[in-house]
Amino acid sequence: MSLNKKDYDAIVVGSGPNGLAAAITLQQAGLSVLLVEASRTIGGGMRSEELTLPGFVHDVCSAIHPMAASSPFFRTLPLEQHGLKFINPPIPLAHPFDDGTATLFYQSPDVTAQELTEDRESYLKLVMPIVNDWPRIVSDVLAPFHLPKHPFAMAGFGHHALMSARHVAKRFVTKKARGLWMGMAAHAMQSLSNATTSAVALVLMAAGHTVGWPLSKGGSNAIADALGSYFSSLGGIIKTEFYVRSLSQLPSSHALLFDVTPRQLMEIAGHKFSTFYKWQLRRYRYGMGVFKIDWALDQPIPFEAEACSRAGTVHLGHTAEEIMASEELTSQGKHPEDPFVLLAQQSLFDPSRAPSGKHTAWAYCHVPNGSLLDMTTRIEKQVERFAPGFRDIILARHAMNSAQMEEYNVNYVGGDINGGLMNVGQLFTRPALRLSPYKTSAKGIYICSSSTPPGGGVHGMCGYHAAKKVLKDLFNKKTTVTI
Ligand SMILES: Cc1cc2nc3c(=O)[nH]c(=O)nc-3n(C[C@H](O)[C@H](O)[C@H](O)COP(=O)(O)OP(=O)(O)OC[C@H]3O[C@@H](n4cnc5c(N)ncnc54)[C@H](O)[C@@H]3O)c2cc1C
Repeated sequence: MSLNKKDYDAIVVGSGPNGLAAAITLQQAGLSVLLVEASRTIGGGMRSEELTLPGFVHDVCSAIHPMAASSPFFRTLPLEQHGLKFINPPIPLAHPFDDGTATLFYQSPDVTAQELTEDRESYLKLVMPIVNDWPRIVSDVLAPFHLPKHPFAMAGFGHHALMSARHVAKRFVTKKARGLWMGMAAHAMQSLSNATTSAVALVLMAAGHTVGWPLSKGGSNAIADALGSYFSSLGGIIKTEFYVRSLSQLPSSHALLFDVTPRQLMEIAGHKFSTFYKWQLRRYRYGMGVFKIDWALDQPIPFEAEACSRAGTVHLGHTAEEIMASEELTSQGKHPEDPFVLLAQQSLFDPSRAPSGKHTAWAYCHVPNGSLLDMTTRIEKQVERFAPGFRDIILARHAMNSAQMEEYNVNYVGGDINGGLMNVGQLFTRPALRLSPYKTSAKGIYICSSSTPPGGGVHGMCGYHAAKKVLKDLFNKKTTVTI
């Protein structure tokens, strides 16, 4: 196919995991690609900074990477050669309770199940078929709606994934198994009575039992740096501190891919879209926001359940009922007194994150979209509940409410870290119901952010699939890697 001469074959706006994945996929296919980024550094949700005190490195957004480690696209890239090293804590996740015990989620499903006493069989019956099929179905799960390569295996996953977390929880009788399950599902950031809230839990469990829940050595920015370095090694060009407000700012290109959410896409390119597509984008719904805290600590967190100190991630929400209530209230626009808190303790496993003997911790809770309320006291009360003495070891803290989260990255609209609500209506058809969710109604303009399938998380699969569509539509080419 012969195309008119342009400055670039493709321009990608935004360098989050999806922008980087799209840029790499296009560059690998032999195109000339420019990647532009509003901030001083690339990475989107994969940046790390000294947010509190000198020498304490905090993950500003994402911290724990089961999705990056199991991403079918990232796994094809030579990221280790570009400096990326994942570290797997001995226990991926701990879920403590008020009585000083904790459920421990191990990479081994059998060891995890052993912990669950009476729920051992129910647990294995739920997760083992998915864990066994995971290597075959992960590329079908992390993809737009399509005819799966392994329909029977996918049907097994889909059967449970379509259900609400509340419904699936009924198969468990113990506090330990029910709490573990509901904490996993709460990553869906919506009422846990909603259909498909089991999908997120199953994906996180399958990934955890396959690749673990690793963190990246040095900080999440190591993933961005490795992706950026590989892209540059292929000849790709990166321009930072370039905030795109209008198409007229950009050099000419055959394809434009936007790693932004529908709201910004409308502002930048809305005048190019059909009336119907604009109507669809305006109807797009954003989900809950987050309130995030990073701490510099004088010593490791003194969890009452000692095993929590061997876990990379700790879910603080006590019972399934308490977690459900917290997520239900938030989905109704209220702030729970005892929010479900997701906490990571990176420096325990990566000494480069803090000065010798000192530690970092990272945590967030869900809040109503756009919330301005300071949740510091409520989050710290939850940590103190399971780790008495926690407040005494805080050297410094840095907090961001939902509005500050959006100020930091315009993609986090109202603090929504998934690029839009991941409910049944928007899981497969985000941002609009179309034959391809990546293609807008304007020729040559595509969307590749987490506002497209498969949604939020650091996996780059939205970018990979968008780029694949661009290659097919505009350049009559295929991707160079098969996933
Ligand atoms: C507090 C928090 C915790 C999280 N924890 C995890 C976790 O532990 N594990 C996990 O897998 N995921 C986690 N996530 C989610 C994950 O970070 C996101 O889902 C992911 O980064 C989305 O990737 P993206 O490429 O779609 O967009 P983003 O990562 O948001 O990147 C978009 C980029 O585009 C740039 N941009 C936007 N508009 C423009 C413009 N007009 N011009 C130029 N540049 C522009 C932005 O500056 C940004 O760099 C977390 C997110 C947050 C905020």
